[in-house]
Amino acid sequence: MASGGGNYRNGTHRNSLKGTTAATDRPLSVNSNPSKPALKNKSASSGLRKSSPGSLGGGGTAKDDAGVPGRVRVAVRLRPRNAEESVADADFADCVELQPEFKRLKLRKNNWDTDTYEFDEVLTEFASQKRVYEVVAKPVVESVLDGYNGTVMAYGQTGTGKTYTLGRLGEEDTADRGIIVRAMEDILADVSLETDSVSVSYLQLYMESLQDLLDPTNDNISIVEDPKSGDISLPGATLVEIRDQRSFLELLRLGEAHRYAANTKLNAESSRSHALLMVHIKRSVKGRDLAHSSQNGNTTNMTKSLRPTLVRKGKLVVVDLAGSERIDKSGSEGHTLEEAKSINLSLSALGKCINALAENSAHVPVRDSKLTRLLRDSFGGTARTSLVITIGPSPRHRGETTSTIMFGQRAMKVENMLKLKEEFDYKSLARKLDIQLDQLIMEHERKQKAFEDEIERITTDAQNQISEAEQNYASAMEKERLKYQKEYMESIKKLEDKWMMNQQKHGEKKDQMISTAKEVAELKKLLDKETSLRKAAEEEVNNLKSQIAQLKMSETSANSEVLKLQKTLEDEAYQKEKLEGEISMLQTQLLQLSFEADETRRRLDRGGPRKVPGGLDSLISQARPQVNDSGNGEKAPIANLFEQVGLQKILSLLEAEDADVRIHAVKVVANLAAEESNQQKIVEAGGLTSLLALLGSTEDETIHRVAAGAIANLAMNETNQELIMSEGGISLLSMTAANAEDPQTLRMVAGAIANLCGNDKLQNKLRGEGGIKALLGMVKCGHPDVLSQVARGIANFAKCESRASTQGNKTGRSLLIEDGALPWIVQNANNEASPIRRHIELALCHLAQHEVNAKDMITGGALWELVRISRDCSREDIKTLAHRTLTSSPTFLAELRRLRIDY
Ligand code: ADP
Ligand code: MG
Repeated sequence: MASGGGNYRNGTHRNSLKGTTAATDRPLSVNSNPSKPALKNKSASSGLRKSSPGSLGGGGTAKDDAGVPGRVRVAVRLRPRNAEESVADADFADCVELQPEFKRLKLRKNNWDTDTYEFDEVLTEFASQKRVYEVVAKPVVESVLDGYNGTVMAYGQTGTGKTYTLGRLGEEDTADRGIIVRAMEDILADVSLETDSVSVSYLQLYMESLQDLLDPTNDNISIVEDPKSGDISLPGATLVEIRDQRSFLELLRLGEAHRYAANTKLNAESSRSHALLMVHIKRSVKGRDLAHSSQNGNTTNMTKSLRPTLVRKGKLVVVDLAGSERIDKSGSEGHTLEEAKSINLSLSALGKCINALAENSAHVPVRDSKLTRLLRDSFGGTARTSLVITIGPSPRHRGETTSTIMFGQRAMKVENMLKLKEEFDYKSLARKLDIQLDQLIMEHERKQKAFEDEIERITTDAQNQISEAEQNYASAMEKERLKYQKEYMESIKKLEDKWMMNQQKHGEKKDQMISTAKEVAELKKLLDKETSLRKAAEEEVNNLKSQIAQLKMSETSANSEVLKLQKTLEDEAYQKEKLEGEISMLQTQLLQLSFEADETRRRLDRGGPRKVPGGLDSLISQARPQVNDSGNGEKAPIANLFEQVGLQKILSLLEAEDADVRIHAVKVVANLAAEESNQQKIVEAGGLTSLLALLGSTEDETIHRVAAGAIANLAMNETNQELIMSEGGISLLSMTAANAEDPQTLRMVAGAIANLCGNDKLQNKLRGEGGIKALLGMVKCGHPDVLSQVARGIANFAKCESRASTQGNKTGRSLLIEDGALPWIVQNANNEASPIRRHIELALCHLAQHEVNAKDMITGGALWELVRISRDCSREDIKTLAHRTLTSSPTFLAELRRLRIDY
């Protein structure tokens, strides 16, 4: 080193010239306008963002990996004379003369000879701390904030103001603040602590041992080099994040205290050690900066989110070097020579490296010391480096001053290639993406859940709608079906009725033929008998005549005998007269029967054979009289009969004394009454009155039966019904019923009343005269034919009553109920004989249509029958009627609900 030092001295002059040449040779971009101080050029938002081209660092943003050239900038600072120098050197001029306007320093070799050196900045003893910071450090700080590495280093003899320049805290007077404090102020003012970070390490290098000034126990920190980039790092060093200036000052004080303690322990002086402050600034690149940094500016949102944050990591290293004076001058410190060598190893290694770099030597002995390893990037690396060399004015230290100047001159030749320390923050990106992924998964799960819920809801809705539609469809179908069924049933019923009517007509004719044939046979027999009687009578008459002749001959002989014979004769004549009357009557009957047989045969010839109907109209056939007929075609038409005998005559025979005559007569009348065409004539001729009278005047049951049958036939006509009623028909019929033994008689009577029951006008009268009671009285006979007529009567009555109620002509409960018909109705509602059952079912339906009857029907058990009918009735129309009746009655519905019958 000593020899090296001599070289420096020798080379000072040479180098000074070279340095001048070198400086003027440099491209203007690096040092184009040295007179313009960079730090005066503050922008509105940040005074640091724009660096003047004339700043010490110069240059713009590095755009490619190769970097931009950036020479090490060197400023020289002269310390003012201190008190001791003012006294001791009072008679001597300073060894240097500064020409700051020319950035020149003149070193007095002796009284007549000076060497002139140019520097990037020449700072006189009057230069303020502020100016020194702005000229020396600020461009470097700006670069670091832009993502470059930067170094500010002070070199000089002990006591020349290195620490004053770099490390003053300015606690008493802020104007005294050194570069470190001012740099941190600018850094903190520029960064955004939300996205950027500033952290600090503070170290001391002494005798090749690197100590952590923030943690004194860390006294041998190793330097780690990245084999690829060659970047160094100190993983063992304490790194403290800085958030404000106050805590930074605290940290500096702490570091200083630790430095003092460490040096005391090592018996060292701070002037012998190097202090290094490392400020790491990590900044996220956003917005305009990012677009600028990106390869091609058109980034989509997708790639944006997947792209790692671009970060710029600038590192500012502030180095307060150990005193540059030679060790032998400081021998008083009590170190051995070896120790002294070690103490200065780093500094001399730095000198060697700078020499090598200045001379573009192939080998730069960076690895020779820890300091050179630590400052590898600062000299000949990628950092922007600014060196301030400090000198004192005293001529006594001219040698050291010269040495310092020469160091500065060589350092000015060192060319760095500035590189932006920009990288993608993959770790943060991975963390960010992890979080995003978690959020996306959560969001997806949430959406999935919501989607599934929605699907479920829609499915349920759809199912409900489908089932509702199905229900609607089913009920519509059911309605349609019922409607068609009802229509079908109605048309079937109409057809049935038509068919029944036809059947009845045909059956009636056949029946008439059969009974007429029988009657004709019977009449033939009677006629035969009468004929033989007549013959016998004639014979007797002849006999008597001959006896008279004989007696006449013996008249004279025996008067008494004559008288006796005359009397006998008279008797015989009376007998004869009587027989003749009978014969003529029989002849009349025979004629009529022949006529009827004729008529019947003619009719039968027109129609086909038919089943005998079981309905009411078959009464007619049975009501016909049975007479004999010759059967040989000698029959006169009824017109002839009426003409020959006259209806009046026939009717008058109804009142004949002879019971047989009456029977025959009534049969004839009944027969005639069976023909609708005869009915009016019979009634006009008083036949109905006679028939009714016959019911009261005779006790003969045959007459009763036949007459009742005839009345029943006549009772099919409305006018006749009124007549029957006005003639007291009900009481006559009731009486007849009461005395009858033959069920057929009862059947005729019941049939007659049943017809009357179907007359709307006669309801009250009929009931008033005991018609209903009479009907009910007949049920005890039990014969199904009778019961069927009773049921028909009740159904007719119920129908008329219902109609009257509906029309408002009747109020109050049914007269049928009043007269106690309900129990029998209920009892027979399910009678096994279908005619009875059908009539009763209809009757129940009629009764049930009026709320006024409902209570009695419920108590009487009719509700059950109605329910049964509405469910089981084989006749669909009645079934429907029952159902409709039930559902339209609130009383029934309430009762059904009460009984919990699902209806
Ligand atoms: P070094 O660190 O180089 O050994 P110091 O910074 O300790 O030197 O300075 C030595 C002395 O000189 C200190 O008392 C300091 O205050 C003073 N000093 C140094 N430079 C200046 C200056 N520019 N103006 C006034 N005093 C100074
Ligand atoms: Mg110092």
